[in-house]
Amino acid sequence: MRGQAPSCTVQTPASLAGALEILFAEKGSWRPLAGGTDLMVPFAAGTLPFTRFLNLWGLEELQGIEVAPDSLTLGALTTYAEIRNHPVLRAEFPNLVQSAWVTGAMAIQNRGTLAGNIANGSPAADTPPSLLAYGAEVQLQSLAGSRWVPYESFHTGYKQTAMLPEELITRIRVHRPAGDTFHFFRKVGTRKAQAISKVCLAAYARAEAGRVAEFRLGLGSVAPVPMRALTTEMLIQGQSIDAFHERFIAGAKQALMEDIRPIDDIRSTASYRRKVAANVLGQLLEEMAERFRRQ
Ligand SMILES: Cc1cc2nc3c(=O)[nH]c(=O)nc-3n(C[C@H](O)[C@H](O)[C@H](O)COP(=O)(O)OP(=O)(O)OC[C@H]3O[C@@H](n4cnc5c(N)ncnc54)[C@H](O)[C@@H]3O)c2cc1C
Repeated sequence: MRGQAPSCTVQTPASLAGALEILFAEKGSWRPLAGGTDLMVPFAAGTLPFTRFLNLWGLEELQGIEVAPDSLTLGALTTYAEIRNHPVLRAEFPNLVQSAWVTGAMAIQNRGTLAGNIANGSPAADTPPSLLAYGAEVQLQSLAGSRWVPYESFHTGYKQTAMLPEELITRIRVHRPAGDTFHFFRKVGTRKAQAISKVCLAAYARAEAGRVAEFRLGLGSVAPVPMRALTTEMLIQGQSIDAFHERFIAGAKQALMEDIRPIDDIRSTASYRRKVAANVLGQLLEEMAERFRRQ
């Protein structure tokens, strides 16, 4: 879609401190620009309502993946290609790696960033379900200081976030899994690549002494924001692995259909999304039970 792209102003600060000063001095009037893969679509179509961009792309402080004994911290500018190729992410956070693989095509994966994907606030974005399943935290920074926000409270409404106009996302942190863990990611779309999700689901579970000791379920495209399915999680967490028989799984699927709040839109219907999410959960639980029974 091509339209009349307006003229625009781009500032390229030399450091994170410089970027934060600009944001603080004229609150709300500069739009952070990372890979530009979200912003440039409406910009080129002439439908983007702002024309002042703060270019973050070269900022070293927002790059890199740090590996600590108990956590991994990804710089805001980490691209999908960097996620896909990182050995520790590949070994310990397969959901995040899979969500990077199914985001757009190669060109998008080389340029699009993790922080851009979440700051954009789309309920259909592909990394949020994985970040929710991994219990991620987001670091927000302004001239006044920095704060860590649990990712599950970052999205406050459709396209709305907990971020203040003078703040930037600087890093995203996930805690390294330990023990007997299970990871599951499924994106359901019209095609495997270059398709926006109709339903996206990611799960992380840990078993201990024959029980599900930890279970988190992140979903996309089934509510105004990426969401955790808390009632369904409560049903599953603490359960004995032996309890995962047909009737229990049917009950969990029903709980998920009640947890989510999908809508009818051009990509799908609410009723289709409910059924698909429930069926994917059924498959997940069967795989999880089989995996943990092999302990
Ligand atoms: C052809 C195509 C296919 C795509 N396919 C997919 C797909 O399959 N799945 C999917 O999820 N997405 C997809 N996208 C969307 C997009 O590529 C991703 O959302 C990407 O991660 C956005 O990152 P970016 O760095 O390009 O963000 P930008 O476009 O630079 O910015 C996006 C938003 O984030 C804000 N922002 C960026 N960085 C920061 C920061 N550090 N702090 C605060 N705010 C920030 C910007 O101000 C803007 O509001 C696709 C896009 C295109 C054009």
